Formats: sequence, C-alpha cells, structure tokens
Amino acid sequence: MTQSQLLQFVNCNILRNHEIIREDIWVRDGKIVNPENMFFDEKISADVQIDCKGALISPGFIELQINGGFGVDFSCDFEDVEEGLRVVAKGILAHGVTSFCPTIVTSPPHVYDKVLPRLKKQAGGPKGATVLGVHVEGPFINPLKKGAHPEQFIKTFEKGFDSVLETYGSLDNVRIVTVAPELEKAPEVIEKFVERGITVSLGHSMASLGEGEAAVKHGASFITHLFNAMLPFHHRDPGLVGLLASDAVPDDHVVYFGIISDGIHTHPAALRIAHRTHPKGLVLVTDAISALGLEEGMHQLGQLSVEVKAGCAYIAGTDTLCGSIATMSECVKFFKEATSCSIVEALEAATLHPAKALGIDQTKGSLHFGADADFIFLGKDMDLWSTWISGECVYQAEGKTEAAYFSKVKRKLF
Ligand code: ZN
Repeated sequence: MTQSQLLQFVNCNILRNHEIIREDIWVRDGKIVNPENMFFDEKISADVQIDCKGALISPGFIELQINGGFGVDFSCDFEDVEEGLRVVAKGILAHGVTSFCPTIVTSPPHVYDKVLPRLKKQAGGPKGATVLGVHVEGPFINPLKKGAHPEQFIKTFEKGFDSVLETYGSLDNVRIVTVAPELEKAPEVIEKFVERGITVSLGHSMASLGEGEAAVKHGASFITHLFNAMLPFHHRDPGLVGLLASDAVPDDHVVYFGIISDGIHTHPAALRIAHRTHPKGLVLVTDAISALGLEEGMHQLGQLSVEVKAGCAYIAGTDTLCGSIATMSECVKFFKEATSCSIVEALEAATLHPAKALGIDQTKGSLHFGADADFIFLGKDMDLWSTWISGECVYQAEGKTEAAYFSKVKRKLF
C-alpha cells in the first residue's frame, strides 16, 4: 500500500464522540478522513478495503508513565539508549500502545546529561510506538514521599527555574514533569514549565490541598499515580487527592490524574472512588518497570535482582514488590471490571484523556476526522487483535482474527 491510497475499514464498530457506532473508517496519508469529502468533492472510491471481521476499533492506547520494559530501564546509564528506546517502543505495540512517554525517575546527573538528550521524540510505525517526549519524574520531589526514588539525588528549586535547567540541561525532549508543589519556589517554576508547553504533574509529595490548589492556579494540570506517594486522604485536609473534588479548580480547567489499575498498586475500591468522583480526569498508566514483558524467573536489572512470579515483580528473595509489570491492555480490562464502567469510559481513560492531558487531542486519542490513524482492533472481552499506526498494521496478535485486504480498482464515481 502506498501512503496516498484511500483505505476503507469496513465491518467494524468504532469509538467516536463518546459512543460506539457502526461505521467505516477512511484513512489517507496516515490520517482519518471524512468520506463525504471523498464522494462529493473528489468523486472517488476506496483503493483498498479492509474487512475488520467485526472488530471494535478504539484509538490506540497512550501511556504517560512507563519506566522501561523488556529488560530496559530508561533511568539507567546504558550504552545504546536509542536501541533501548526502540525495544520498548516495539514491545508495547503488543499491548495496544501507539504512543508513550518514556519515564525517568530521580537520577544521578550523568543520566540527565547522557540519556535524556537521546530519548528523542519520534513518529511511530512498524518499528514502534510514537515517542511523545519524556516524563521526568523527579528529582524535585519530597524526600518524605520518595517511594523507590534514590534520596541522594533528590533536589530543591534553590535557584528557581535555573535549578531545573541545570538539572535537565535542555528541555527539548521533556513532555511531562512530576514535581512536589510544596517545594519552595514551586509556583514560579510551574509557570515557567507551562509557558514552555510542558505538562506539570504533582506527585511524590506531602502537599496539603491548599498547596495543590495553588499549583493548579499556576498551571499544574496532572497528578502522578493518584494515592501512591502522597498523603492519604484525610477528611480535614484531603491533600492532593482532594483536587478531584476541589471547588477552587475553575470549571474549564480539568485536573487529570494517572492511576495504576493493575489490581496490586491501587485497591479496586480506591479505583471506584477516583472514577466516581472525577471520571473525566482519569488516565490509566502502568508505571511499568524494566521487568515488564520478561519471563517468570530471576532477572538482573541494573543493580537490582528481580524475581518475576505470578504476574508480579519482587526484589529477589523477598516479598517486596518493586514496581508494576502490568500491560496497558490488562490495566484497561481490570479498570473496567473493578469499576463496572462502560467500555467507552475504560477506553477513553487510556486514549482521549491522556491525549487531552498533553493537549494533543486534535491528532491523538480519538478517531475524529483529521486525527492520526492510530488505532487498535479489539475482540469480545476487549482482547487485543491488532495494533495500527498511521493506518498500517504494526502488530498482529497470534491466534487472533486478522483483517483481510481487498484491493479495488480505483475508479471515478458518477
Ligand atoms: Zn512515582
């Protein structure tokens, strides 16, 4: 198929405008196009028809927080950064992810110097999912809520935004930053990030609700892995969790929040509370680590010996969980089961909402006319059949229904 061909995906249901409808998808030059224009203006029919065999077509999943996978850890000082990025970008196609933000946790200076400049934004295709830019999680966080971040590299905004520039060097590859809003000078720093088009997320924090609201007024628009690494909900000061129901957040400013719905890191009841309180802001993230996609058994990941057993990653020889190894497709399914939400809500939490959180919803996260033709085919029970980027099949699940192509002779209508 050449790119300028007109493709018509038939025999499918599609997710568009918050509902699942029986409709074809038309694609040209990697974009979803309006067929009416084809019929009436250009008077042409499709070059190729693709029989989707009754699949449900959803926009591809967008992952805003993934630390690595398939043995690769983005926060390690590794030799071939580009190859590591490629391995993860390719591997997650099998999980329905068509674009993502590789994530770097609090790291020593040489990681920011050597690795960050090489994790470049790039368009997706058969070689892997689109790289939207890096999520730098830390080092400007609260050491009291450090989680697995190494404390010796945690920093303050001592010199304001200059501390940021000194730490990360160039911000060219940065798309999301997680900061603790209670740090001194945080409001002015948040404004400077937002001016540069970087999404500011709040997390690894002891912030009160008031500190969270102040950060939102200065432009913060996301919360990093809600419930994890922040103050637990308290009725007199609900902390960052309270932002989900704050009346200090203007109506036109949605605060989005990432949540790990792997069945381990967030209790199903907590998922339900988050979903019922603020469904529009809910964004599913895996927060997966390098053991994602590895076989059961022992693995050496950087300095850490990790044992993967029964779908969980443990520090070897202990019962201590060392991070998620859930796939995005599993998280979507688990979220739907845990909250009894609709299929549309479950899918939008992994597609439309993360796209809106990054302000890229004109091109990603939906099947609107003009959007990138990045989508996934799902069967019953939301099992993944195949993954498509720019209208091209980039992953076909083994043993699952395959789409059939029919070339048509291009002809003028009328
Ligand atoms: Zn974290």
